[in-house]
Amino acid sequence: MPARRDYYEILGVDRGADAEAIKRAYRRLAMRHHPDRNSGDAESEERFKECREAFEVLSDPEKRHLYDTYGHEGLQASSGGGFGFDIGDVFGNFFEQIFQAAGGETPGGDLGLRWDIDLEEAYRGGRIRVRYEALDLCPECRGSGARPGTGLRTCPRCRGAGALRMQRGFFTVQQTCPECGGRGRVLEAVCEPCRGEGRRPAEREIELELPPGVADGTRFRIRGAGHAHGRGHGNLLLEIGVRAHPLFRREGDDLVCEAPVGFTTLALGGAIELATFDGPRRLEVPAGTQSGEELAIAGGGMPRARGPGRGRLRVRLEVEIPRGLDEEQRRLLRLFEETLADEQKPRHIRFTERLRDLLHRREKA
Ligand SMILES: [Zn+2]
Ligand SMILES: [Zn+2]
Repeated sequence: MPARRDYYEILGVDRGADAEAIKRAYRRLAMRHHPDRNSGDAESEERFKECREAFEVLSDPEKRHLYDTYGHEGLQASSGGGFGFDIGDVFGNFFEQIFQAAGGETPGGDLGLRWDIDLEEAYRGGRIRVRYEALDLCPECRGSGARPGTGLRTCPRCRGAGALRMQRGFFTVQQTCPECGGRGRVLEAVCEPCRGEGRRPAEREIELELPPGVADGTRFRIRGAGHAHGRGHGNLLLEIGVRAHPLFRREGDDLVCEAPVGFTTLALGGAIELATFDGPRRLEVPAGTQSGEELAIAGGGMPRARGPGRGRLRVRLEVEIPRGLDEEQRRLLRLFEETLADEQKPRHIRFTERLRDLLHRREKA
């Protein structure tokens, strides 16, 4: 490990400097080296970190005293070595961002969102506009959560230790300080517009190109469209939901619907008209089609999201039994029924035969 630079030297103040002078020096240097103004320059980041660490120590009377007396070692001992890089205070989550970028992990600030579209929109695909709310960096405090011109102070609850000890019978229980979240330091004064959060909800709108045939539950990852996070933004993880349609449902790449058809059309054959997303379409019904049978129109389904072509449009035919028949219609139907031969109603015949067999077997037993 290289020798660590002296904190006073880093801030360019002398050993007797008062709190105000230290704060002023720090603010000046932090502004100069702030990552927002140096677009990822590694040298500046290093300077910035160094200044921050120096300020954290010298602005805290306890830590400053330890440092003055014992040097860097004194601080290591008092804080368990973990001070200086606490996340989410003066300049938001800047460090977390850097560490995560270095580690190749997904940076925080990701936002998950489900956006519903109609089945017809899914069928056509194309450009959609998605409106949503995400957190932006608070312009007042630039994400620090601190009222402009103020810094950090020692947490009054844990007195900077970051943890609370409580006596529970014979045991002493140690708990992370809820006031400062274990950092040992809290904001001197909170930024009012964001209530110290450093981020504020803002309306966003993005445009997205959907492939025709996009399926319910398809996910898109839109880089940089999530919450403000550190110097950048997290990603937006957008899941497309497809609303139920009153007429059609999707099965794989097929569209499926039910069509009520008159008894006469099923018996004699004929054409019915269907409404589709591309306008009306005729469907030929062969003579003798049974109720519940399915007819398919090739290429009438959803565009395949992967690969060319379309699925089928499958139409389930349901017989519609007429109601409220008058005397003449009833007479005609009965007359018609009498003319039917057994082989013209095979399902009915098979059913009665099976029934007869069953009863016969019971009698014998
Ligand atoms: Zn703010
Ligand atoms: Zn605390």
